[in-house]
Amino acid sequence: MLYSELSEAYSRIEAQSSRLSMTDELIDLLSRANGPEREMVIRLTKGELRPGYEGVELGIAEKLLDRALYQVTLMPLDRIEEKRLLLGDVGLMAEDVIRTKKQASLFSEPLTVERVFRNLERISIKEGKDSQDLKLKIIAEMMHDSSPIEARYLARTMCQKLRLGIADMTIIDALAYLTTDGFESLSDELGALVKHERLEKDVRDLRSRRTAPIYDLEELTSHPSKHGLDKAMAGMVLERVRSLKEKISSNREFLVRLYNVHPDLGHIARKLSEEGIEALSTIKVTPGIPLRSMLGERLRSIKDILEKMGGEAALEYKYDGLRVQAHMVKEDGKWRTKFFSRQLEDITSQFPDVRKALEGAFEGKDCIIEGECVPVDPDTGELLPFQLISQRRGRKYDLDRMMKEVPVNLVLFDCLYLNGCDLTGSPYLKRRASLEGAFPSIKEGMIPSASVSLSVMRLVRSEADGESFFESALEVGCEGIMAKSTAVGSIYQAGSRGWLWIKYKKDYRSEISDTLDLVVVGAFHGTGRRKGTYGALLMAAYDTASDTFVTTCKLGSGFNDEHLRQVPIMLEDLVVPKGGAWRRVRSRIEPDIRLNPKVVLEVLGSEITFSPLHTCSMDRLKPGAGLSVRFPRFTGRFRNDKGPEQATTAQEMESMYSAQRRTVSD
Ligand code: AMP
Repeated sequence: MLYSELSEAYSRIEAQSSRLSMTDELIDLLSRANGPEREMVIRLTKGELRPGYEGVELGIAEKLLDRALYQVTLMPLDRIEEKRLLLGDVGLMAEDVIRTKKQASLFSEPLTVERVFRNLERISIKEGKDSQDLKLKIIAEMMHDSSPIEARYLARTMCQKLRLGIADMTIIDALAYLTTDGFESLSDELGALVKHERLEKDVRDLRSRRTAPIYDLEELTSHPSKHGLDKAMAGMVLERVRSLKEKISSNREFLVRLYNVHPDLGHIARKLSEEGIEALSTIKVTPGIPLRSMLGERLRSIKDILEKMGGEAALEYKYDGLRVQAHMVKEDGKWRTKFFSRQLEDITSQFPDVRKALEGAFEGKDCIIEGECVPVDPDTGELLPFQLISQRRGRKYDLDRMMKEVPVNLVLFDCLYLNGCDLTGSPYLKRRASLEGAFPSIKEGMIPSASVSLSVMRLVRSEADGESFFESALEVGCEGIMAKSTAVGSIYQAGSRGWLWIKYKKDYRSEISDTLDLVVVGAFHGTGRRKGTYGALLMAAYDTASDTFVTTCKLGSGFNDEHLRQVPIMLEDLVVPKGGAWRRVRSRIEPDIRLNPKVVLEVLGSEITFSPLHTCSMDRLKPGAGLSVRFPRFTGRFRNDKGPEQATTAQEMESMYSAQRRTVSD
């Protein structure tokens, strides 16, 4: 596949703002690629060469790109740099510079997706003395053979600035359409039966496997009289189209389940196209490949929790730290141990102390376990504020000092895999017993020097027992409790937020102070003391149904001077260029600066109220109104551990609104 096909598709995707049109572009693109190309196209589209958890960096310095462009066009470096500043984007700059190149040099060789991908791989592994020269040579060769539009996307890809706004779930949608059988046969079948000009084109277009004909046909045939269609014929078409849609959704669900235990869409796509969907059942939970984390819902009382869980729940302390998924394999007496964060980043190197303790305590050959890593006071064993743990991030040299000054403790709470067996389908109590059995020397409660412990857990059947357990959690400095279902069906639901786990935090007890994790999607210029920085941020919740970010408040208070300095730096790279599309954001408010959704902040509010200005849950609870947070205040906590899709959802906001009303009317 030519790289120009990919670049042109990217440029069309950039012009789209609806998820369905993006999916259609992606379907079109992937349908033209063979197996290995599909893998490469997906990786490039995600801006990576290997799945994120392998930590392969693709980024090159912008200065190196400038030098390569100079070699190809002889445009002076200061002019190249000037262009970048003026256009505010490496892609547009490279496109502009390459446009000045002498047209179609005799020696140019077309860029293919494979050539680009392999070259990027070569760039990413080159290190050492001569590496800069080699990288420069490779980049210059590719730029030499690029058309302006190819240069735009190649430059963005290399500098890690390709932000197409395509979520993994959109890629999964495209794969589900591509793998479902029955598009062609339905097109043939309906083509023979349906003779109506309103439907004919869509019926023909079914063969393209795009979403649009399916949605069009569904809309038209659901309202036959409105569109002048014969009722019986419309009913027949609707039934067939819906049955195809069901097949697509069931394939999608299957792919999502796979993705949750093996989050590598490049690999899944390749296997899918080379071996078919059946072959995917051989993809299994594997030590070394992180699973997407299971998450909990929230409720506002122990009573509600016990009711929801059928009268019994295992309550655990809810520790406030960094979630860690540890993968351990012992081979020929040697450990292969890896730690992954909730964002699936490899964070093994930050916790050599925890690693040593785990390896010393594990009695088995391999496992995948989960826990929360919390900072502890080395003298007293008391829990310390969560923020301290982030000081270990990215540290290479001071780690020894940090380990002494801020020791951490990994509090284990789940076991997903043990001695060759996948336990994700086993009920909670069995997983807990496996965890305790595999680490027999590790006990509940903190011992400052131990580095590992087991979460404190009690089986509870009465509200009074639950309340006293909750109080004891607060006393030791935890933020609340996590209730876990003990039912037969209490499996580990990788990648989803469900009612098998329910969190109950301190904040929920006062009617008006839930903390929310909201995504920054815009900013307003500051005035007065805030001149030169931002005066307020436009915050959004995540709407899972439409995979978009919906605004819920303007956040201006709670920021100290340090935050005010830090925030613009954090947001710098996320600015949507003037006139650019604000992808995946739905807003009725136009901020001074549009931002791509990425940064998550913890916010405290006094209440959730209706507002016609905010798009969160618009029209869902009241016509013409969305939900907004009243008196929002930044708690000082940057939720770097959460991606935008893990922020508070619009659906959660709705249940919090309803719970709030219940409390008021009680
Ligand atoms: P939240 O981030 O508020 O949605 O809460 C979910 C997070 O709580 C999980 O991702 C874990 O990092 C953390 N957590 C702390 N203690 C526990 C526990 N005992 N069981 C499960 N999750 C826990």
